[in-house]
Amino acid sequence: MSAASGHPWTGGGVSRTLPPLPLPGRGCRYWAAGRCIYEERLNPGLHAGFACTALQALADSFDAFVVRGESLGLSSEEAGRIWERRVDAALNIGLDCANFIPLPDEAGDVPCAHFLDGVCLLRMPVCPGRCRRFVAGF
Ligand code: SF4
Ligand code: SF4
Repeated sequence: MSAASGHPWTGGGVSRTLPPLPLPGRGCRYWAAGRCIYEERLNPGLHAGFACTALQALADSFDAFVVRGESLGLSSEEAGRIWERRVDAALNIGLDCANFIPLPDEAGDVPCAHFLDGVCLLRMPVCPGRCRRFVAGF
């Protein structure tokens, strides 16, 4: 910065107003752990990039399992019963995701603290603060 250019915020003596900081988004209906779930609520499941990778891997395993079952002549009911007996082991997904945080009570479809209705909160955009889509309430 040269002496003539002055301070970056005053522009060499002329004071400028800083843009106001947005209010925190916490309290918005679309706020979840600092992330914005607006797009996911608008079009659930549309953004593949939001999906929990561990759940996606499980779904892929199930699809492959069904295909193998069909080639062995299993009915969908038989394949479903076999899958049910194995799904508990398959849900042991902690090793498949570096960001997996186990829930204390291991509740829910995927027992990870970042999991919400099929999506991974870590893959959702960060809420930059209160915006025009803000709706009060949870
Ligand atoms: S951190 Fe949790 S919710 Fe996110 S992808 Fe991994 S297992 Fe799924
Ligand atoms: S304030 Fe805006 S960006 Fe933040 S969670 Fe709500 S809708 Fe999303």
